Amino acid sequence: MHLGIYVHIPFCVRKCAYCDFSSYAGRMADMPRYVEALCSEIRSRALETGKKSVDTVFFGGGTPSLLTPELLEKIVNTLKSCYELTPDCEFTMESNPGTLTEPLAQAMVRCGVNRLSMGMQCAQSHLLKRLNRIHTMEDVRTAVQIARNAGVAQLNLDLMLGLPGQTEADMHETLREALALSPDHISCYALIVEEGTPLCRDIEAGRLSLPGDDADRAMYEICRQTLREHGYRQYEISNFAREGSRCRHNVNCWQYQPYLGFGCAAHSFYEGIRRANPASLDDYLAGAAPQLEVISRDDAMFEFVMLGLRLTEGIEESAFLRRFGVPLWQKYGKQLEKALQDGRLQREDGRMYLSEHGMDVMNSVLVELL
Ligand code: SF4
Repeated sequence: MHLGIYVHIPFCVRKCAYCDFSSYAGRMADMPRYVEALCSEIRSRALETGKKSVDTVFFGGGTPSLLTPELLEKIVNTLKSCYELTPDCEFTMESNPGTLTEPLAQAMVRCGVNRLSMGMQCAQSHLLKRLNRIHTMEDVRTAVQIARNAGVAQLNLDLMLGLPGQTEADMHETLREALALSPDHISCYALIVEEGTPLCRDIEAGRLSLPGDDADRAMYEICRQTLREHGYRQYEISNFAREGSRCRHNVNCWQYQPYLGFGCAAHSFYEGIRRANPASLDDYLAGAAPQLEVISRDDAMFEFVMLGLRLTEGIEESAFLRRFGVPLWQKYGKQLEKALQDGRLQREDGRMYLSEHGMDVMNSVLVELL
């Protein structure tokens, strides 16, 4: 059994135009108080769970690279005193270009961070500006150099596709620039326009327009093909890695393994219970209680399949049987028959997985499953 830990750092220099995550600009003064609350949550949760062995840690946000070395060390020391981090623990920290400093990168390595995930998004200054990102491509290069000089072992770059005004030529250039930095892992996320964000308002008012479904699909194909040609294997809808560099933390989540989440807006999935911490920073600081949801056996079976199908290797049928005591095909055979016949779904060597086309239309398979 694996156990992961997620730590949410909800502070940002400024808010990106598309962002509806729990992240706050202009609240840096609250960071020490937040870290106090976070450490106290970690300590009190450990009294309930016991000192469990943990094999992945992920600091996300927000912008974790806004932590000072002292605050980072304080959180990590608390984690290590409450949980047993395995010797080969994968320890990822998200960072935004323009915020990573040498002292922080050195503190990260001292703390055991061995994977940096950097929000590059794209290579074009005009597109970055449109997204209200704080960085340029030059900042990405500088931040990667800082991380490498400090000795961070693995690098992921997050890229975005389907941005207003983004062209196929931009996508090619972004991939070229990303590959020039020789990352171990690349994530390519399609832009999601969230209600209430400045980007959504600009699109609704006709000030900006999206490239459209066909252009999005073409950009996704460019990512798939270019990354394949450069030795990155697609292992999930949006994720590509060199051999041995898959993100274990996320793979464990997709394989329905438990995780504990700390900080505002963090979720946990542990012993069949989903726990959602208050999404607002102020509520979290005020000590508001988390919301708990007991996951029914039926929901757990559906979630197991839904998450597992995101992986290109799909679901190991014996893992479903071990977990739920019923064969996967007995539970869902009727619903999945059509997808299997029309080639969206494949079944081979005790695994069930989506074909390339099936990945593009994953929602249709999930609807049939429901
Ligand atoms: S850096 Fe990330 S979390 Fe912060 S505002 Fe931008 S998208 Fe949101």
